[in-house]
Amino acid sequence: MSENILEVKELKKYFPIKAGVIQRVVGHVKAVDGISFNIKKGSTFGLVGESGCGKTTVGRTLLRLQENSGGKVVFDGKDVFGLSNKELRKIRPEMQLIFQDPYSSLSPRMPVGEIIGEGVREHNIVPKEEYREYVMSVMEKCGLQPHHIDRYPHEFSGGQRQRICIARAIALKPKVIVCDEPVSALDVSIQAQIINLLKDLQEEFGYSYLFISHDLSVVEHISDEVGVMYLGNLVEKAPKEELFANPKHPYTKALFSAIPVPDPTVKMNRIVLEGDIPSPANPPAGCKFHTRCKECMEICKTQAPVYKDYGNDHYVACHLYDQGK
Ligand code: SF4
Repeated sequence: MSENILEVKELKKYFPIKAGVIQRVVGHVKAVDGISFNIKKGSTFGLVGESGCGKTTVGRTLLRLQENSGGKVVFDGKDVFGLSNKELRKIRPEMQLIFQDPYSSLSPRMPVGEIIGEGVREHNIVPKEEYREYVMSVMEKCGLQPHHIDRYPHEFSGGQRQRICIARAIALKPKVIVCDEPVSALDVSIQAQIINLLKDLQEEFGYSYLFISHDLSVVEHISDEVGVMYLGNLVEKAPKEELFANPKHPYTKALFSAIPVPDPTVKMNRIVLEGDIPSPANPPAGCKFHTRCKECMEICKTQAPVYKDYGNDHYVACHLYDQGK
């Protein structure tokens, strides 16, 4: 049996660009352009990168909330894009999503018990007569007061609302949870509580997480393995300790240099990336990062670097390492 609960192989998601009266397709936005990674059972894979690099699209596509443009996703031994609608519906509870914004992702007209229990009823997770008690037990697991089951979302704080979102996801007894920037809308002190809750739940129930974030310090806290994404591709991937001790790709180094250090005596050597992330509709030739890379060489402008393992399960796509620099 595979040790991986999820295997993503050369996944692609292109969005057509249409123009003219007859809406002819004139190009594609290559939001995800062939990325591969695995998530081991009970572990967390952190996916980081700037806004617009395609992280959220990866999460939504691998859950098959939208169709892929190429590649494969294998969940618990099943080819996700090869499943019929009926088969997909059957595995839906096992693959859940927690959204970034706990305000807009909860219906203001539904009491919390309904929000958490809707899917439980739909997928017959527990017998009807145990339904309310089950929802209350899930609320308790997520640090919510079970007797608040009939309250509405506006009666809760931001952190509590995110707990409701987590409760809604775990109530379906999932195996994989895609956490899409789950703490970025929250205060720093609340962020820590939510991260700790996710870790505690993982320890108790063995969930596997894809944790999407632009915040490396949050990712460091929760992940076992980390992938760095730039313009639709993974440019670096390694076990967390290895990546944080020895970042290789110039983009990863720039992201790391921006992590605040809580010590005023430490001098920050920040690497400032110039310019914006290029358009995924018209990415640069060669290495997609070459327009912003301070270490760019001639070869980088024409030839895309190969993404490969340089030891310790540390994958990088950069010509610097091809040339032994
Ligand atoms: Fe920079 Fe070249 Fe490496 Fe790309 S391949 S990150 S441009 S050094």
